[in-house]
Amino acid sequence: MKSHSVRHKTILALMLALTLASCAAPRRGEIAQPEHTSEPIPTTSAPLPSPTLPSTAPPTEPEPAAESAPIDYAAIKPYEVGHIMIIMYHGVVTGEAPSKYQRGAGDFREDLETLYNDGFRLCSMKDVIENNIRVPAGYAPVVITFDDGDPNTFRLIESGGGLIPAPETGIAIMEEFRGKRPDFGAGATLFINDDPFPGAGDVPERLKWLVDHGYDVGNHTKTHPELSSLDAREIMDEIGYIDRLIRDALPGYEPVGFAFPFGDRPKEELRGYVASGVSEGRTYQCAFALKEGYNAMPSAPNRVGFDPMNMPRVRGSSTPIENAYDMGFFLEFYRERPEFRYISDGDPDTIAVPAEYEENLDKASLGDKTPVVY
Ligand SMILES: [Zn+2]
Repeated sequence: MKSHSVRHKTILALMLALTLASCAAPRRGEIAQPEHTSEPIPTTSAPLPSPTLPSTAPPTEPEPAAESAPIDYAAIKPYEVGHIMIIMYHGVVTGEAPSKYQRGAGDFREDLETLYNDGFRLCSMKDVIENNIRVPAGYAPVVITFDDGDPNTFRLIESGGGLIPAPETGIAIMEEFRGKRPDFGAGATLFINDDPFPGAGDVPERLKWLVDHGYDVGNHTKTHPELSSLDAREIMDEIGYIDRLIRDALPGYEPVGFAFPFGDRPKEELRGYVASGVSEGRTYQCAFALKEGYNAMPSAPNRVGFDPMNMPRVRGSSTPIENAYDMGFFLEFYRERPEFRYISDGDPDTIAVPAEYEENLDKASLGDKTPVVY
């Protein structure tokens, strides 16, 4: 573990040098010179501050933002252009996970408990992209996503004349955790391909169950191709098909964003077809696009360089660090450097940033939000 730890720190420093200062995402393998940032860059020798986890500071009960009293900025230290971690899961399996892209049910339960104890609270991808982050003051928003419409993520079974999530699926475990820790929040975004979540019920019944219980459904293409090998027509048909599938299953529902299959993006001149296109006479739009892993640090809507069509995720895995894709890597990093995380002020209408990190705030992006620099 020691050698992992040393390697881990080395990777960390390299990763930060590459990606932290500039939010423009360097491509894989590309060496970028760090630009100035006021956030401290960890090194292997620098003394690390004691983690100041929010569990010591914030109020115990979340309050509605509109009625909340002014917060103590010095105690809560909101930082609303810090990192928002987006976790990528695929299936949740019983027993040993066959790959790092799958997660054992026991590990997934532990992940939720760890996130809760480390001061994270669930936030939807929709709230991130609409810049409407509503986690209570002092907590860090975290987003859970599942790709591929896997039956181990979610499937319905018949029970007592109705349909319920099969036990030990990802969604069943999230529902179980919601009962145990209601203040963790709820919901996840599930990016689907054709015939999602095979099991009982038809596709509309499956998707309706999810949306009725606070989950969101997004687009992951019809057949999970490598988009870099497709032409414009093929890209639009892959994305348009799932857009229609969701809209036809859930009248009035807006599909929530896009996740690149394999993290593979279209050829550069064709990337605009992810954001919008037309297929079978119907138009579609995707407000954001998620990658399979990171090649930039997690960002936030009002942060300088925020790129909604190229958002990094971490893999929901704590396996040894061979590359810095894993949630376990970031959890350890945020324990050592909690000042990097997005910490909410509890009020979605204000964007609070410590004066020392003000340069990370993109003032032109604020819209109707009120900046609070303290
Ligand atoms: Zn996928």
